Amino acid sequence: MSGKPLQNYIAGKWVDAKATESLPVHNPANGELLAYVPLSSAEIVDQAVQSASGSFEAWRQTPAVERVQFLFKLKQRLEDHFEELARSITVENGKTLAESRGEMRRAIENVEVACGIPVMMQGGFSEDIARGIDEFMIRQPVGVSAIICPFNFPGMIPFWFLPYAVACGNPVIIKPSEKVPGTMHLIFELLEEAGFPAGVVNLVNGDRVAVDALLTHPDVRAISFVGSTPVARHIYSTAAAHGKRAQCQGGAKNPIVVLPDADLEMTTRIAADSAFGNAGQRCLAASLAITVGEAHETFGQGISEAAAARRVGYGLDEGVEMGPVITNESKQRIESLIQRGIDEGAELIMDGRDVSIPGYEKGNFLRPTVLNGVDPASEVFKTEIFGPVLGLMPVDSVEAAIELVNSGAYGNMACLFTSDGAAARTFRYGVQAGNVGINIGVAAPMAFFPFSGWKDSFFGNLHGQAHHAVEFFTQTKVVVERWPREWSRKF
Ligand code: NAD
Repeated sequence: MSGKPLQNYIAGKWVDAKATESLPVHNPANGELLAYVPLSSAEIVDQAVQSASGSFEAWRQTPAVERVQFLFKLKQRLEDHFEELARSITVENGKTLAESRGEMRRAIENVEVACGIPVMMQGGFSEDIARGIDEFMIRQPVGVSAIICPFNFPGMIPFWFLPYAVACGNPVIIKPSEKVPGTMHLIFELLEEAGFPAGVVNLVNGDRVAVDALLTHPDVRAISFVGSTPVARHIYSTAAAHGKRAQCQGGAKNPIVVLPDADLEMTTRIAADSAFGNAGQRCLAASLAITVGEAHETFGQGISEAAAARRVGYGLDEGVEMGPVITNESKQRIESLIQRGIDEGAELIMDGRDVSIPGYEKGNFLRPTVLNGVDPASEVFKTEIFGPVLGLMPVDSVEAAIELVNSGAYGNMACLFTSDGAAARTFRYGVQAGNVGINIGVAAPMAFFPFSGWKDSFFGNLHGQAHHAVEFFTQTKVVVERWPREWSRKF
């Protein structure tokens, strides 16, 4: 990328979006102009849907064992371009190179899992449900599927859906975040090299206009969305109103609970990575630490030291542990929420505001921030900050901690740090969250498990990844067949 306008990929060709509007894309660490992203119109979306629809019949009739051959080729190309893709994520999103590599590894893992589609999309068969009558269930693709992505994992999140959708026989249209369109551009170059038939994979850049055109288009059958909760709600209700199936993963406010018997050194290290990794811009970032009994003092001190020691800078530079946040607007929003926490009575024990990194004065940098004594009734308890800010909350027991966790509106993740197995079971059993960690700080499921999420963190019933994705991208057909006994040969 070099400040040039990006193109869309429709019907197997790179095409100008012919958009009347475009947005500049900047490197969040140094302000460098990277590209212009076109804001595609509803007409352009319609062209992409027509391209996808036109490819559907031939693609679904392509045997699954042949469809996955394109994924094997894609997997190899993703491996060959691994470093280039990781660099692209760091340059446009800001996270460190190590974090970008981790992101691409999970993306590739999803391609690998989807290569098992010939087994994963098998149906079921019951012989002799009555004399001479058999019944079976087959899975068929749903049709044109749209995938709408957030800014924080430009390489990984599309892969929670894309490999499963195409392997199941569906054409897809991807709408990347307009804040980070470059990585998906590179990935589409690799999809093109992998040789998918024209129309099976389409890329449309844009903003809410393109999204709304996808949501209301009669030929789009399925919507996969990841982003903030207010937008997830909008997507879910609009998709439903237009008769489409939808899976919408939303925002989060993730608590970790620390018991006094936890290994403090390990807990602090892991909690710091969870809260401050990806500059806190992760839907599985810890943003509240609920400490039980004497853990409050020891963990509070440990996490403050870890926050102070974290090396902040440009993610491509050696030794950097935390990059900038995505935009200056986002930085200002985070700083104002820190102030809100102070105004609501929390004590600021590590202040990450007013940061300037030498050599990167134009970057959107913050430092790790810790607020002590967050009130459960306060705004900072309820609001997703999406920045490197951790709030500490003391309670007396694991039961009180679970109650506090469950009082929140979100349910993306909850983690417990302890060496007590019974407490771990109580927590795992009672906590209202779709992803649970025990002595884990970022409970991100491997590609062969669904990426769960509960309450306001998810709208729908089938999540991304693994069997959930296969069920989402297929519709079941149940067939009952009678072959009268007198027609059958005796054996
Ligand atoms: P966002 O909701 O602002 O944008 C997501 C996508 O929706 C983008 O492609 C954007 O163009 C589009 N969009 C934005 N506003 C829209 C509107 N009004 N109508 C239609 N489309 C619209 O999210 P973001 O800021 O890019 O990403 C961060 C959010 O995503 C955080 O809330 C984070 O928790 C969440 N997230 C959730 C998960 C999960 O698995 N639950 C994973 C990653 C990120």
